[in-house]
Amino acid sequence: MEGPKSKFLKVKCADCGNIQTIFDRTNLKISCSVCGATMALPMGGKSDIKGEIVGRVDTDLE
Ligand SMILES: [Zn+2]
Repeated sequence: MEGPKSKFLKVKCADCGNIQTIFDRTNLKISCSVCGATMALPMGGKSDIKGEIVGRVDTDLE
């Protein structure tokens, strides 16, 4: 089974302040759902977070 490697990050959009949950590994560009600004870019299988990380969400927790 997978270990506790993957996690979700709460990232605040630098442009509009929207807080969005982003997977810390992605192959896709993540855009803000409110204003469309880039919030994360794929970087070698991980996410290059462009906004401010304001928290983490452990996948083991609700
Ligand atoms: Zn935004």
